[in-house]
Amino acid sequence: MPKYDYAKKEKEIWEKWQAANLYHPALDSAKNPYYALYMFPYPSAEGLHVGHAFSATGADVHARYMRMKGSDVFQPMGFDAFGIHSENFALKIGDHPQKLIDRTTKRFREQFDSLGLSYDWSHSVNTSSPEYYKWTQWLFIQLFKAGLAEKKKAEVNWCPSCLTVLADEQVLSGHCERCNSLVERRELKQWFFKITDYADKLLEGLDRIDWSEKVKLAQRNWIGKSEGMLIEFPISNSQSSIEIFTTKPETADGATFLVVSPEHKILAQAINDDVKDYIERYKSDKKLGVDESKEKTGVNTGLLAVNPITGKEIPVWVSDYVLSTYGSGAIMAVPAQDERDREFAQRYQLPITSTSMTAKPEGKKTTHYHLRDWLISRQRYWGAPIPMVKCEKDGWQPVAESELPVKLPYVENFKPLGTGVAPLAQDPNFVNTTCPVCGGPAVRETDVSDTFLDSSWYFLRYPSTDFEDKAFDEARTKKWLPVNMYIGGAEHSVLHLLYARFVTKVLFDLKMLDFDEPFTKFRAHGLLIKDGAKMSKSRGNVVNPDEYIVKYGADTLRCYLMFLGPFDQGGDFRDSGIEGMERFLKRVRRLVEDNLAHSTSSGQLASKNQSGKKSSSNSSSVDLDKSMNRAVKDVGNDLDNLRYNTALSKIMIFVNDLTASKENIEQNQIENLVILLAPFAPFMTEELWEKLGHKGSIHEESWPEADEKVIVEEKANIAVQVNGKTRTVLTIDNLQLTNQAEIEKLAMEEPNVSKYLQGKTIKKVIYVQGKILNFVI
Ligand SMILES: [Zn+2]
Ligand SMILES: [Zn+2]
Repeated sequence: MPKYDYAKKEKEIWEKWQAANLYHPALDSAKNPYYALYMFPYPSAEGLHVGHAFSATGADVHARYMRMKGSDVFQPMGFDAFGIHSENFALKIGDHPQKLIDRTTKRFREQFDSLGLSYDWSHSVNTSSPEYYKWTQWLFIQLFKAGLAEKKKAEVNWCPSCLTVLADEQVLSGHCERCNSLVERRELKQWFFKITDYADKLLEGLDRIDWSEKVKLAQRNWIGKSEGMLIEFPISNSQSSIEIFTTKPETADGATFLVVSPEHKILAQAINDDVKDYIERYKSDKKLGVDESKEKTGVNTGLLAVNPITGKEIPVWVSDYVLSTYGSGAIMAVPAQDERDREFAQRYQLPITSTSMTAKPEGKKTTHYHLRDWLISRQRYWGAPIPMVKCEKDGWQPVAESELPVKLPYVENFKPLGTGVAPLAQDPNFVNTTCPVCGGPAVRETDVSDTFLDSSWYFLRYPSTDFEDKAFDEARTKKWLPVNMYIGGAEHSVLHLLYARFVTKVLFDLKMLDFDEPFTKFRAHGLLIKDGAKMSKSRGNVVNPDEYIVKYGADTLRCYLMFLGPFDQGGDFRDSGIEGMERFLKRVRRLVEDNLAHSTSSGQLASKNQSGKKSSSNSSSVDLDKSMNRAVKDVGNDLDNLRYNTALSKIMIFVNDLTASKENIEQNQIENLVILLAPFAPFMTEELWEKLGHKGSIHEESWPEADEKVIVEEKANIAVQVNGKTRTVLTIDNLQLTNQAEIEKLAMEEPNVSKYLQGKTIKKVIYVQGKILNFVI
């Protein structure tokens, strides 16, 4: 067989799709709108890697399937181009982010197209373009006007390598999610969004959406609602007391010491050098308190508190394992119940006494949340400038909406300064402005906003990209949102997926949206490894999809990626596996082409019935008909559940049946095979569809429906047992399976059954329909 020129043929087909506007639904008049969305990428590398190809293909198979099922599918794509991801990459390679983004977005787009992804590029977004971030700034102002944006002083996470603050959600076990540096604490004045006001709404909404369970659980844990009690422990020989927070007040009898955070105000009364040293060390060692894996340290303050249940005096310790932000910044330690308390008690030889959990002390009921407000400001260059100005007279004021966007000026030296102010502060032309209220002199905010603000609303923009005068059009939004199916990485569980829900709920409360959950259904995709190892640049085993597309064609790569493991789990990418998939697709091609010759010469063409379904009338190919109908049914079920690997195995079984068959293969069997494969291998199936004599695109064909009557087995085998032991097997017509009396009669006539029943009393007959008939004697 001559080497097939995949690149040339696939390019040709791609251009045909473009010319036919195949993937652009009529946004205003679509009858059956379906919004299929896959998370847009950070263009923060020179190109896509095969992990993107895996998840993007899975999302595309779904979109293509829904299109064939009759939906008007809108599947847009864009770029999350602003932010620290792209900026860090630009710093690393010594490029300016603007130049970098211009180059990488072009490259990513080429790669997406070469994979045959059915995106509607006429509605794309780039979060770093002024047309887009104008509305990101508008969104900031809406939150400010609603009282949900506030500049306040707080202890925040500072990445010493990225030289900026980070939101809590961007700190993973004490480390920066971007560069893995150990994060420090700093007290800084920053812009926050009051996501904590929405904690209960964010929890409640989870019960109404169809999302991967692990993502819902991650959000519940992150919001971390705990109902508890504030209990006062009086200090001995003092008028004061310590208020502790506990979720288990009934264990108070087992409290053998109290622990306060190093910032607790009671420590002013503990004039002991060890305490002073501890607080000093805590303050100077900024890494203290954020690394959860480190050993717990603490010192005895010398203060004694009275346990309100036992009446005993117990010591008060200070330790950084109690956070000032948790509850009241003080806890009662119950080492018999709590593992962290026990570790601490053992280390410092503090008493451990059991609790009988009977008496509850008096206290105030209270609710604590783990969730903190969303820190929005970044001391970096590559982001949307925060649209706020400060006037001596009027304080912080939003820029007039008619003045948006506040453009990000081109700054040649965009490197972060590390001084706590952003690079924009160096540009007086940017900084100095006038107050929108009094017209007097004012200065602009020079921090830019978090990348996650850009992506918190992008799904609202896609359908409305042709509206220049509004962020999103009311009618378009009503027609297309919320998103029907969202596919993306589980690593965004408490980042993007939480922020997007928050922003949607705010816009709902502001009566700008008529829904309060952005993504009706969310499915997390799995991750790929390479030859058993994690892919990473340092291992040098990151797979670039391009070379595989050139060598094997996009269809082979797509099918291989979808076959190598369950979509929600991922799999192991091996070169040997992809060759097997290429052979399979060649078999399909041969099968179709061989049959083409046969059916053309015999003049036997498939007929379509009125509903567009293909039907068979040839009784000589009953088995193939059954195989086809079973494939149609099973592949459809699998696609409904994103089970792409098993869908492909079922297509393979059908191909085996067709190849092995000595019967005449009918054209509708071949056509249905090509249709079932179309979402996976869009290029080849398009080409074969044309060869089968069709004018239109296969991707506009309707998905076939299985004829259940053909699939149902006509006979069933029933094991006939006496006292649980099988004595014979009866073959019964399916239509007779409910007729138990008749089956019992037939069974008793069987010699190998009757001899066991002779002279015995039948106590009971157990019948499992279509499977077992058991005489209990
Ligand atoms: Zn960092
Ligand atoms: Zn003013």
